[in-house]
Amino acid sequence: KDDRLIDGARKAEDADAALRPKRLDDFVGQPQAKDNLRVFVEAARARGEALDHVLFHGPPGLGKTTLAQIVANELGVNFRATSGPVITKAGDLAALLTNLEAGDVLFIDEIHRLSPAVEEVLYPAMEDYALDLMIGEGPSARSVRIDLPRFTLIGATTRSGLLAKPLLDRFGIPVRLDFYSHTDLCAIVRRGAEKLGAAISQDGAMEIARRSRGTPRVAGRLLRRVRDVATVEGAPVIDRAVADRALARLEIDAVGLDPLDRRYLRLIAEHFGGGPVGVETIAAALAEARDAVEDVIEPFLLQQGLIQRTPRGRALSASAWRHLGLPAPKGVGP
Ligand code: ADP
Repeated sequence: KDDRLIDGARKAEDADAALRPKRLDDFVGQPQAKDNLRVFVEAARARGEALDHVLFHGPPGLGKTTLAQIVANELGVNFRATSGPVITKAGDLAALLTNLEAGDVLFIDEIHRLSPAVEEVLYPAMEDYALDLMIGEGPSARSVRIDLPRFTLIGATTRSGLLAKPLLDRFGIPVRLDFYSHTDLCAIVRRGAEKLGAAISQDGAMEIARRSRGTPRVAGRLLRRVRDVATVEGAPVIDRAVADRALARLEIDAVGLDPLDRRYLRLIAEHFGGGPVGVETIAAALAEARDAVEDVIEPFLLQQGLIQRTPRGRALSASAWRHLGLPAPKGVGP
């Protein structure tokens, strides 16, 4: 199974926290997001106030967690992290909130996966910095209000459309992250290699960058695998040829598609005449969760123009047919 989809693998790779940039200036790419954050962080600091709540949305591995840590770092406050699926009871969230100090950042990854009961606790916390707790049960139950310190909630989600409207509305600073350019990824690869103590040439770094699905997490993972091959081959420098051999071994093609991406495209081509076909059907045929298909596989294929979303489902574009080396059926435009 593709390890892009396995959370454990993801965390293990990220455990190499040394690779994470710590300051906004060291964070490569996403100029718009960076500019906005810089202004709002500076304003909050100048006024000695907590930063307004921030929502990062975009595909996995683009730097949402990293940016949240950077924001806390730039604000000079504590960073507390949790995730939507981990907070199962309202009391879990209440415990986290009451332990915060003034100005702290509370980061909730996968915030779209909070249960409605937990969201109810979050609303007054975000809006009024207060907790409404129910004490007792039945007719004698009553609600008490507990004041919280002013804090900053930073939420991360793969798609903002997954959030309940009242939750979405409570984020004053929504920030969208996009796939990275090859130039930005190349800079990230070079910096990563430097931190790993691996020599890399410009064309070696660019080769990895071009095949990283626009995603820093993927770039970091590919860099490690390429470095493994360089070590085993006794290559003193990671150049383009070493990178290419390693990436071919991983079955990453020239535009960065991996075996799962190609399985997705071939499925639609060979079994559904190029589509349109519903995402549920695709997920079932690939034996993947629908969320994984929508969050991990499709965004990059859409961005590359290989597939289109239509009201009746997903359809291959002419370039996808070309990429697969198959003749496009009549009616599929260039
Ligand atoms: P997300 O939370 O969006 O899934 P992360 O913040 O966990 O993504 O980032 C995934 C990996 O990519 C981390 O190891 C991080 O260090 C690296 N990374 C992300 N964005 C950048 C960037 N702009 N520059 C350098 N490394 C980055």
